[in-house]
Amino acid sequence: MSAVRAELARLVAATRGALAWHMEGGERDLPVPDGWAQPSLGRGQAFRAFHTPSAPPAPNAEIAAPSPVQALEPVQAIAPASHAGGGPLAVPRPAAPVGLAAGVDGQAALALHQVRAELGACARCRLCEGRTEIVFGAGSPAARVLFVADAPGRLEDELGLPFVGEPGRLLGRMIHAMGLSRGEVYLTYLAKCSPGPGDVGPDTLAACGPFFDAQVAAVNPEVIVALGEGAAAALGAEGPLARVHGQWLEREGRAVMPTFHPKALIQHPRTKREVWSDLKKVMRRLGIDAPPPPRG
Ligand code: SF4
Repeated sequence: MSAVRAELARLVAATRGALAWHMEGGERDLPVPDGWAQPSLGRGQAFRAFHTPSAPPAPNAEIAAPSPVQALEPVQAIAPASHAGGGPLAVPRPAAPVGLAAGVDGQAALALHQVRAELGACARCRLCEGRTEIVFGAGSPAARVLFVADAPGRLEDELGLPFVGEPGRLLGRMIHAMGLSRGEVYLTYLAKCSPGPGDVGPDTLAACGPFFDAQVAAVNPEVIVALGEGAAAALGAEGPLARVHGQWLEREGRAVMPTFHPKALIQHPRTKREVWSDLKKVMRRLGIDAPPPPRG
């Protein structure tokens, strides 16, 4: 009996961690199996049907205005419309999206929640003085691929969300071009506070790096994509990014692909071809079929 209680307590803790994680990440939605109705919690807290890879959300979907939600009775809300009543309810299991690891439960979300709690209202380096929001990260705790840049920019600092604005939209298109969605990957930074117009210094990397490592340990991605010169160098790239991008690195037994930051692609659109080549290497490693090359 005590084993059952312990398992129940573990599941409750994992579920609470998952819920806390979604809310801290600014998510208004939780995954609901395909074909199920959407329960409404009212006052803006809404569930939306779990998107599928064939119908990915718009880039930056987490900051888009939520779609109107049906007013549903709480008890009826989670029953599939096709279930006419009577007999045990067969729970449909949606196929796992290609970007998510199978068998990952709420423990990963709970671990991320604990890392965020440990970070707290951090003042471990001088970047705390000029920041508006800590930008911890967003995405799936079950992601197979984690994207990391050196630090958030001005807009991210204002919103507390990673990869927003034009570079964020471009990153979203890059992810979609890989056959994934932003909700299937994990997005974060080595430094969680914006350095403003300056660079991320070694003191900040030393202070904030352990939290990035803890995020990686929690998510356990198969591949880390290092976006930009700073992230690539911090994760082991030697030499200018123009030379080392696209060459696999290994960091603590994990594959790292250095490539260009979306900001650099906006300034130098010709670099898109090289980035796409790098991302196709990631796709091959993950066993994702290559869709047609992106336009534009
Ligand atoms: S950059 Fe990291 S270590 Fe520095 S204040 Fe922000 S959260 Fe803390």
